[in-house]
Amino acid sequence: MTPIDLRSDTVTRPTPQMMQFMMNAPVGDDVFGEDPTVNALEKKVSKLFGKEAGVFVPSGTMSNQLGVLVLTQTGEEVIIHETGHIYNYEGTTAAWLSNIQLRALPGAKGKLWSEDIKAAIRPKNDWDPHTSVIALENTTNRGGGTAYTREELLAIKQLADENGLLVHLDGARIWNAITATGIEPEFFGTIAETISVCFSKGLGAPVGSMLLGSSTRMKKARRFRKVLGGGMRQVGVLAAAADFAIENHWPLMKDDHRKAKELAELIASREDMSIDPKTVESNIVIFELKNESAVDFLAKMDAKGIRMVPFGPKKVRAVYHFQVDESMHQQVLHIFSGL
Ligand SMILES: *Cc1c(COP(=O)(O)O)cnc(C)c1O
Repeated sequence: MTPIDLRSDTVTRPTPQMMQFMMNAPVGDDVFGEDPTVNALEKKVSKLFGKEAGVFVPSGTMSNQLGVLVLTQTGEEVIIHETGHIYNYEGTTAAWLSNIQLRALPGAKGKLWSEDIKAAIRPKNDWDPHTSVIALENTTNRGGGTAYTREELLAIKQLADENGLLVHLDGARIWNAITATGIEPEFFGTIAETISVCFSKGLGAPVGSMLLGSSTRMKKARRFRKVLGGGMRQVGVLAAAADFAIENHWPLMKDDHRKAKELAELIASREDMSIDPKTVESNIVIFELKNESAVDFLAKMDAKGIRMVPFGPKKVRAVYHFQVDESMHQQVLHIFSGL
């Protein structure tokens, strides 16, 4: 039996329908700006988030880093949560590429809180780093898929405005945040100067992310993308997959969230594991084991046909995506109940 893969929402495979759609996409040389499918996707997604322009890139790391690059100058400091992707999983690229340093702050639920950001803003003098950007992640990955509320984002935006700071939003899972909170996509465009969105997480496209922002900044980002080797040719085949994913897979996301919640509630009812199901707001379930190591537990679960990843010595992460169907989900619940 093929295992049920809850390791990540990046493990989905393109469906036959998606591949059919990719095959039919009109394409051109995108380095010349002539791929109609890429152009249409950049227009569609930037409009959705209330931004002037978008730049289609191969990965979320590239769109995050282009965001940092177009918002900062050498010697500046970017405030980020200590569990943030840009800080932990992008190989110090912000230091290499943008000549800036990251200031990592703790914060409940994997979120930055405006009072903590306020306390971290540096005084303006010749020796302190110059605070210039607040980098948010929504939903949070290591925070367990939590989403910022409208009020929290407004408070951060107000603080940013009062202090002349810009906001970058790592929206690798912004689709989940929108599904979980009902906040309209344009709202995020009013909070963040640049937004990075991924098509290859819960949406299920094989490749692709996009940076969104003003026309001026995106012109600059396009230049840097080329310099970094990210200029692609007939890439409309991939943009078509992203478009297909937005139209056909995004509506399925609410089901991932329901399933994650059901698993979290079952885990919470067990003596040997712990989780607060209230913190499970989207498709990510991070839980703690009381009596065994994550490694031992995962080996045991693997043998039973469920794959997950360790997230600490006694912590495990399970992530739902649209290719875990209802019968697989019932099987997961059945296995967890029978432990
Ligand atoms: C996956 C992810 C990214 C981008 O990762 P790539 O593997 O480079 O596409 C960025 N931020 C968060 C929070 C992520 O989960």
